Amino acid sequence: MQKAQNKLGLILFPAFDWRITPTHPEREERLLYTIDQIEEEGLFDYENIFVYNPEIIDDKYINLTHFCIPDVDSIATISHKIAASSCITLVKKILSNEIAKGFALIRPPGHHAHRITYGDRGFCVINNEAIMVEYLRKEHKIKKIAIIDTDCHHGDGTQDIFWNDKDVLFISLHQDGRTLYPGSGFTNEIGGPAATGYTLNLPLSPYTSDEGFLYCLENLILPILEEFKPEIIINSAGQDNHYSDPLTNMNFSAQGYAKLTEKLNPHISVLEGGYSVEDALPYVNLGIIFALAGIDCSNIKEPDYDPEKLRQSTRISEYIKKLCENVYIIWKNKEQIEHDVKKKYQKHFTRKKSIYYDTMGFLEQQLENIKICNKCSGLITIESTCLNYRVLAIVIPFDACDECYNQGYDIFSNTDSGSFSHVILQDKRNFEFYKKEYSK
Ligand SMILES: [Zn+2]
Ligand SMILES: [Zn+2]
Ligand SMILES: [Zn+2]
Repeated sequence: MQKAQNKLGLILFPAFDWRITPTHPEREERLLYTIDQIEEEGLFDYENIFVYNPEIIDDKYINLTHFCIPDVDSIATISHKIAASSCITLVKKILSNEIAKGFALIRPPGHHAHRITYGDRGFCVINNEAIMVEYLRKEHKIKKIAIIDTDCHHGDGTQDIFWNDKDVLFISLHQDGRTLYPGSGFTNEIGGPAATGYTLNLPLSPYTSDEGFLYCLENLILPILEEFKPEIIINSAGQDNHYSDPLTNMNFSAQGYAKLTEKLNPHISVLEGGYSVEDALPYVNLGIIFALAGIDCSNIKEPDYDPEKLRQSTRISEYIKKLCENVYIIWKNKEQIEHDVKKKYQKHFTRKKSIYYDTMGFLEQQLENIKICNKCSGLITIESTCLNYRVLAIVIPFDACDECYNQGYDIFSNTDSGSFSHVILQDKRNFEFYKKEYSK
């Protein structure tokens, strides 16, 4: 019997009963071909490779992560909940040392789901990785977590949720937002006033290849992780950087993904996008599985793989070198930048956001207000308008000082229906969630 070096847990959840439309690229075949390929390779028979069924999680972890409008069950299906649960099941087994690594091969994906969520955005409704983070903090008292998003699209939802949270380092590599959905993820997006430098974005040129990705990893991401020292590393493992992906323009290969996984060495990888259903996903998924399991993956190659054709231009290599230098400067100077931002805004940091729900065709308007507090990361209030809803979302952060904590509860109890349809409080300090609903 062949044996994996690392004990690896897999959850394979193709979500047969959920799709946007039958021909939509985000459909169950995304995983069915991979499952066939895993079977063909005999991976299910390897010693140290375990396949689990997900448990269904309690909605409380969703409500600690998101403000679901009008409520969880109106926007998230059982498939969404199982996808999120899969991550929790795996990470639980990692923490109990039953396995060393986990790979959640699940759908629907999650990284475009923001803190406030009204439904489907970029094929995402709830954020699988973010829900896992809240679970880890509540149930396992894990403090420092890193999420490295290697999906081809900017992980704008994950960025939004941990924007002002220093305990979660979020780094996203993606095709430049000027050329791809969702159009964000530029180097100047570096986190809120209490967490500047803990959100880092690497917008990459179209046609970047394995070489460019691995350069970013070795020269920027690994040194930063070394300094940050996370207790858990999560990889949002989107596979749409693949050269055959129909939605994107990158030149990444299965070998590239395998090497990336080997070097990043995450505790858990979570499938995000990847729409080259037959030509890429089975190979890339296999590459990631082998790398996580510590099995030699040098033989995994797409039938049409030709590294010559995928070679990136010198212009791209030079751009990436400069990009990594610039982002490292942000990381190195984060304390000074934070100091300057706080000095500039003094009491409150506000930002207006328009969030487009591409799948559903509606627009949300947000006004976010982050209190600048010298004792904690500061109370957050968000006014959000979308469809017929008008929401006041209040977030008491994990590290809330008593003043911000009390202020959050005061705002919650003193805001009556007025113009709001929903007034919701997330108390992350005590892991509580309260909601007042008014008829529209
Ligand atoms: Zn990304
Ligand atoms: Zn993607
Ligand atoms: Zn405070």
